[in-house]
Amino acid sequence: MRTITYERLDIDNDENIYKERLNNFPESCPRCNTVQEPKFINAYKLTPLITEAIFKCNKKDCGHLFLSELIYGLDGYILMKSYPKYPETIEFKDEISKLSPLFVEIYNQANEAETLNLNRVAGMGYRKSLEFLIKDYLIKFKHEDEDTIKNASLSTCIKKHLSANIKQVAERATWLGNDETHYHRVWEDRDIEDLKTLIDLSVYWMSSEMDTAKYISEMENRKGKSSPIKQKKSPPTIQQS
Ligand SMILES: [Zn+2]
Repeated sequence: MRTITYERLDIDNDENIYKERLNNFPESCPRCNTVQEPKFINAYKLTPLITEAIFKCNKKDCGHLFLSELIYGLDGYILMKSYPKYPETIEFKDEISKLSPLFVEIYNQANEAETLNLNRVAGMGYRKSLEFLIKDYLIKFKHEDEDTIKNASLSTCIKKHLSANIKQVAERATWLGNDETHYHRVWEDRDIEDLKTLIDLSVYWMSSEMDTAKYISEMENRKGKSSPIKQKKSPPTIQQS
């Protein structure tokens, strides 16, 4: 709990400074997403219940100001949200980024929409990213026929061409993804977090299959080749004079 000072904008020509308790401070900067305790700068009461506070990020390479919305409760102010909110970049393993750059790009755009509370379109974005991931995986890694995969529906690609583990999670991801695009929602008890978890699992199993194939390929290359024979060292000869 901290004390903040604020000015009132809900009263004309009031130049007094007020003090009030703030029960929770921002725990990160919404612009650079680093965990920290930002510096309190000032606050302005807009309405009897709402105050906006200005904070400064304490990271040198960011250092921006941001606003936090405070709501007056029974025991002082409670911080509700901070903005402008910038999305965190979601990184994937190199092999996934190389396999499907568009999956990474679309996934991050969906994440950006979600960060901006555009949940209705974020879900569709995640569903689209999954389609690019699976089709790129089948064409580039599994070497399936490009035209066949491009023209097939996502569910056909999953059912016909994927191995058991990927199939199980990818299929469920599309069920939830379809809920994000269709008028009627089938999976009422699931949400966008479940969809993201299933996409993460699909990425995990694909990545595992790619890693496995890489090791098998690399280590089979030496099959049949004779391994270097270690020469037994002969004892040093003693030259007699
Ligand atoms: Zn920052």
